[in-house]
Amino acid sequence: MYTPSYRKLFESGELAKRVEQLNRMLASCNICPLDCQVNRLGGQISRCYSARLPIVSSYCPHFGEEPALVGTKGVGNIFFGNCNLKCSYCQNYEISQRWKEERKNEVTIERLAEMMIELQKNHGCHSIGFVSPTHFVPQMVEGILEACKLGLTVPIIYNTNAYDSVEVLRLLDGIVDIYLPDIKYAEDDVGYRYSGVKEYVKYSREALIEMYRQMGDNLSIGEDGLVKRGLIIRHLVLPNDLAGSRETLSFIAEHLSNKVTLSVMSQYYPTNKVTFENAEKFESLQLLHRRIREREYDKVLELLDEFGFEHGWAQEFESQDYYRPDFSNRETPFAR
Ligand code: SF4
Repeated sequence: MYTPSYRKLFESGELAKRVEQLNRMLASCNICPLDCQVNRLGGQISRCYSARLPIVSSYCPHFGEEPALVGTKGVGNIFFGNCNLKCSYCQNYEISQRWKEERKNEVTIERLAEMMIELQKNHGCHSIGFVSPTHFVPQMVEGILEACKLGLTVPIIYNTNAYDSVEVLRLLDGIVDIYLPDIKYAEDDVGYRYSGVKEYVKYSREALIEMYRQMGDNLSIGEDGLVKRGLIIRHLVLPNDLAGSRETLSFIAEHLSNKVTLSVMSQYYPTNKVTFENAEKFESLQLLHRRIREREYDKVLELLDEFGFEHGWAQEFESQDYYRPDFSNRETPFAR
């Protein structure tokens, strides 16, 4: 049976040391490349509107991830509230950009650990998937430490926008089992315009190289046929090639490998700030104010052959009709 490597770090005491190292970084926060240098331990907040305690907007078995993660019982997703990016078209904007409201969903580290155990034991989830974890890495790792004491044994998935710090990713080596980064752009000015961050390309590519250093090409598959360890790189295709698909795939093939596992996604639809009214007013949003066309998607799929990628998944073009997150009925009052 597969034993996640964080269990060994827990037994050796290394996991507790990593928690200390990561928590120290919160005193002058440089957890993500935004490097705000605010004292989150003392309750200060900055760009991600998040202080000491983790914000959990929702947690549940989730069946919308890649087939080799979902199995029969789903990924036990823990959706962190708020985010370090501000994507105009964020499909999870109800939990990622309602900054002040989400603070109401702060939970203790002990409660975060209990959620993991509920997902593993009560729901039988095959893994724990942290969604938008970048701004809460110290809290996530401390939660894993507490959950280890309660019997956590399933793989940990780090489902990220890839605007991550390499220093922090190094501290996740041996803790995260599956990296699931979404590579969003290949041009910095596009990243700034639509997600409000500088140098997205540099930071996301450095992050990708570090994740690849830790995981390599191959996915480890368990006896149940599900992924237990490895790197799966997502790429959401945007209209008008705003995601820079050719440059992104070319970078991966050249600087990582064309043996890595890719997940190409067609599920984009205009939402959040990309409304009809805003698109009328702001020229930049007009480019996002439609779904992708089938021909645009086909061109990206042709690139997979051109660069020799053989492993992974591509959503069916029609997926844009059914991948819609719904956070309207979530239970808000988590026990603290
Ligand atoms: S995690 Fe939040 S406070 Fe820390 S550097 Fe990033 S955006 Fe700033």
